[in-house]
Amino acid sequence: MTSLSRVFSGFRISRQGKGAETDAELDSVDLPEEVRCEKATFERAGRLHRVHWAVIALSLVITLAAWQYSGELVERRAADRFARYSTQIVEMITERMGRYEDALWGGAAAIYAKGGDISHSDWKVYADSLRIGAKYPGINGIGVVHYVAPGKLDAYMQAQRKERPDYRIHPPHRESDNLPISYIEPVAANRPAVGLDMAHERNRYTAALKARDTGRAQITGPIVLVQDSERTPGFLFYAPFYTGGLPENGPARQARFAGLVYAPFIVKRLMAGTLQKDKREISVKISDGEAVLYNEHVAADTDYDADPMFRQTVSVPMYGRNWSFEIITAKSFRDNYTSSQPTLILVGGILIDVLLIVLFVSFSRTNRRAIGFAGRMSRNADEKAVELEKMVGNLAASNEELERFAYVASHDLQEPLRMVRSFTVLLRDRYGDRLDDDARNYMKISIDSAERMQELVSDLLQYARMGEDAQQVTNIGLDEAFDYAVENLSDAIRDSGATVTSDKLPVIRGNASRMARVMQNLIGNGLKYQAKGATPTVHVSAEKCDGGWIVSVQDNGIGIAPEYHEQVLQPFRRLHNMTEYSGTGMGLAICRKIVLSFGGEIWVDSEEGKGSTFCFSVPEAVADAAENANLETSDA
Ligand code: ADP
Repeated sequence: MTSLSRVFSGFRISRQGKGAETDAELDSVDLPEEVRCEKATFERAGRLHRVHWAVIALSLVITLAAWQYSGELVERRAADRFARYSTQIVEMITERMGRYEDALWGGAAAIYAKGGDISHSDWKVYADSLRIGAKYPGINGIGVVHYVAPGKLDAYMQAQRKERPDYRIHPPHRESDNLPISYIEPVAANRPAVGLDMAHERNRYTAALKARDTGRAQITGPIVLVQDSERTPGFLFYAPFYTGGLPENGPARQARFAGLVYAPFIVKRLMAGTLQKDKREISVKISDGEAVLYNEHVAADTDYDADPMFRQTVSVPMYGRNWSFEIITAKSFRDNYTSSQPTLILVGGILIDVLLIVLFVSFSRTNRRAIGFAGRMSRNADEKAVELEKMVGNLAASNEELERFAYVASHDLQEPLRMVRSFTVLLRDRYGDRLDDDARNYMKISIDSAERMQELVSDLLQYARMGEDAQQVTNIGLDEAFDYAVENLSDAIRDSGATVTSDKLPVIRGNASRMARVMQNLIGNGLKYQAKGATPTVHVSAEKCDGGWIVSVQDNGIGIAPEYHEQVLQPFRRLHNMTEYSGTGMGLAICRKIVLSFGGEIWVDSEEGKGSTFCFSVPEAVADAAENANLETSDA
């Protein structure tokens, strides 16, 4: 069966009796199982299903996680920075207070150096040496408060008025002792403080006594300095000094208490000198108990953030008091540490997800279209195949009809032809001597033509018969077919002096008389198509091929140009006229028809002037395969 006929027979099986017209029927009935499975796989792939949604969901989760993580990272970084700033600011103030304390203790040391007391001019020397303006920004001055025990006030006043006749203590109070500010430098900025008695007011007095009793530096609670015209919060910083140096215990300190070195502070100025606000990015508010010492948390401050990112309150012990630092982030902090990175990640991630969805949807749509298109194409192909099948059927029917016609025509023509020839011969034999030469010649042409016509009709009949009668197919030996053909051609072989040989030929599957016919036609042509005077040589051989044999008939004749290799196998195709070589042009067509009827093929390998080799394939014998086994090994 040729590949084409195999396709059609396969198709016939799949369409048999179904009349499948609709898509559903085509889908469920006609498609082979594996094609249906593959189609279903494509259809599944063409839909958005769980895997796609899982990918999108995963991507969304990753986006959200990245967004959250990035947000936390930014927040943590900002929180760290805020904590560092907060610590820094508290440390800065504490450290600055430490330096002021050192200056106070320096004053006490200067007093000790002067033998336990100091004159106004010596104090001025000491105060000038501190270079307060340059080294202690925020301090208002540095002074000496003398402790005047009850009953010692007159002596104290006398001593002071020696240098400063107009010196006076103020304001009056109910305490029995006095703690007047004897000196304060620079005096110009602190004039109202000169002579001010620390005992007149609770804050000042309490801190002074505490400094005395502890022997440590102390600050007062919030007060308003007399020298501060703006009346803003301030405090005093004391360091006590004693007669004969620092005593070891409380009672001794009270007994030998001589006074205090002190410094007045206006908190606003202290902070201005301590904190460089422009670089801070945070705002601070300092309170002592309920009283606010310093406050940057005011709406008037352009950097103030009413809704700060971070807030912290730290309580710091400060020389006998507890200062509370309330620290918040400023607007500049928010500007510097608010990152757009998390938002970018979120927006970018969501954008990618959207793109992913668009991509999936477009893929699935394309896939669905492709499947639809394939379905339509396959339906078209099916329809075309149906048409083709119909055409092939029609063709086969008309071929059959034609062959039947050829058979009937050639068969029925034989008899009248025989009559024409016979009566013409009779006419020639009986009345030929009464006719002139021309008439006899005409009669000869008529007889020759009738004979030629008989040959043609006979060959045509044979050709038609090849498709007409059911042939018997058995295992046949090609050797016998060869012998039979040689026997039939013995006259021609003898006349031409030809050599006709063969190898050992195989047993094949076929029809004996038809195979002999093929052999005879091919060997006969090998003998006939020779150059004038040449001695023909014809050799027949066979070669095993997949599922059968290829038989070759090789001659040393005139050969055939390649462009005629196909044509010579067609009915009535001749390359020569009758005067050159006799024949009907049907020999090879008959061979071809026989070979095709066994499922084989025939072809020629030839060049002009170089002889020809006609080959045809035949199926292997079935039952007698063993018989051919010997042949195969001997060929090899
Ligand atoms: P016929 O021999 O009766 O003319 P064939 O069908 O046998 O018809 O051959 C067709 C043509 O093929 C021949 O006319 C001849 O020209 C060419 N032919 C066939 N066999 C051979 C051959 N062995 N060598 C050369 N030409 C050949």
